Amino acid sequence: FSSLKLQPELLKNIESLGYVKMTPIQAQSLPPILAGKDVIGQAKTGSGKTAAFGLGILEQLNVRNTRVQALVLCPTRELADQVSNALRRLARMCPNVKVLTLCGGMPYRPQVSSLGHGAHVVVGTPGRIAKHLRTGSLNLGSLRVLVLDEGDRMLKMGFQEEVDAIIAKTPEARQTLLFSATYPREIQSIAEKVMRDPVMAKVESTHDSGS
Ligand code: ADP
Ligand code: MG
Repeated sequence: FSSLKLQPELLKNIESLGYVKMTPIQAQSLPPILAGKDVIGQAKTGSGKTAAFGLGILEQLNVRNTRVQALVLCPTRELADQVSNALRRLARMCPNVKVLTLCGGMPYRPQVSSLGHGAHVVVGTPGRIAKHLRTGSLNLGSLRVLVLDEGDRMLKMGFQEEVDAIIAKTPEARQTLLFSATYPREIQSIAEKVMRDPVMAKVESTHDSGS
């Protein structure tokens, strides 16, 4: 990790989390992510994809600006909660970073009032995020990074329409990161539609120790 251009708070925290070195998908995807490029990351579950996009997000946050600067879309509430917790853990030495989780199946009004207090990073499921955009409680005008996590599962669960509607409300000049365990044709066509010159970071899973 020390080869990366990361804030000292992030490096120190990575050390305190016991991450000794980057996992293969992190080693492949973090340099282009930190360089501001669009990246497609493909690697199996448990390979450390969350920290790859999480560090990319945290490195470029402007904490003084309380508008939403990063949005992570996840296929399920459980995954969104996991990603939120992982981001908070990665950010624990960066003062005042606010991560807000917005998922379906949760009361709507408290989410609106949380949004009113400002957040730097929003993590959520596509249906609920699209609803907050429709009603105007969420504004993505200051968004810099959009992450589609578990893209293959999101499509399988039928979220294509919501994801398209959300992307339509984000600035063109954003960084788009797409993570997926598999890379079916449908994902490829989304990538072609919404990403700019993406870098492919792919870690093949082989039969034994994997990467
Ligand atoms: P994925 O999204 O690829 O399925 P996760 O991002 O959830 O995987 O990571 C799986 C686990 O690996 C998490 O518990 C995380 O804390 C841990 N982890 C991530 N990066 C590293 C690293 N560089 N060194 C050690 N453990 C790591
Ligand atoms: Mg993941």
